[in-house]
Amino acid sequence: MEQRLNCKIVQDLLPNYIEGLTSNITNQAIQEHLATCEDCKKVLESMTKETKEIKAVPYKQINFLKKIKRRQWTIAIRSVVISVLILLGVYYFFGSRDFPVPSNSVSVSDVYELSDGTIHYIISANVQAYISTTTSYNDGITEINRIYENRRLTSDEGKSFVSLPDRWTSVKHSNTSHVTTGIYYEGTGKNDRIIIWEKGMNIPKANAEQEAKYREYLEKKTR
Ligand SMILES: [Zn+2]
Repeated sequence: MEQRLNCKIVQDLLPNYIEGLTSNITNQAIQEHLATCEDCKKVLESMTKETKEIKAVPYKQINFLKKIKRRQWTIAIRSVVISVLILLGVYYFFGSRDFPVPSNSVSVSDVYELSDGTIHYIISANVQAYISTTTSYNDGITEINRIYENRRLTSDEGKSFVSLPDRWTSVKHSNTSHVTTGIYYEGTGKNDRIIIWEKGMNIPKANAEQEAKYREYLEKKTR
C-alpha cells in the first residue's frame, strides 16, 4: 500500500485483526506497519494476551460447572447412602424380624419312647409376639430343632408360653442304615443347645394312651 497507515488507525483495526475479521489487503497493511512500529506491536501483543484470557474464561467456567456437577453427584450419592443407612438403622431397631429363640427360653416335655423305638417330645417356648418359623433338620443321625419368633429388637411385649405340636422322631430308618443318635434344640448357635434325647438315655416308655395317640398320628400321616 502506498499510503502508510498511522498508529491510531492500526490500533483501531487491531481488535478485528486479532479476530481475523479484517480483509487480506488490510492485514497486509497492518503487518507492514507492525514490522516497523514497536508501539503498535506492543499494543497488539497486549491485546492478543487479553483476548486469550477472555477466551480462557469459558473453559474455566466449564471446568467449574463440571466441578459443581461432580459435587452435586457426590452429595446425591452421599444422601442416598445416608438414607439407606438410616432406613437400615430404623429397621434394625424398630422393624419386626425373626430372632432365634434362645435355649433358656425353651423347655422340653413329654419325652418318651414308643414301642417301635420312636421318640416323642413337645417343645414349648417363652416368646414375645409370635413364633414365625419352626425348623426341624434331620440328617438321619441327628435332629436339630429351631424356633424363630418375630418381634422388634427391643420388644416390650410380655412373654407367653407357646407349646408346639407333638413331635415323633423315628430313630431307626427302614429305608437307610442311618440310626438317629441325638435330638436337640438349638437356640442362638451351636453352643446354645438343649439335649432332648440322646442314644442310651434312660427315658420313660409310652403308656397305652400315648401309644394310641401315636397310632392316630401315623394313620393321619399315611392317609
Ligand atoms: Zn504504529
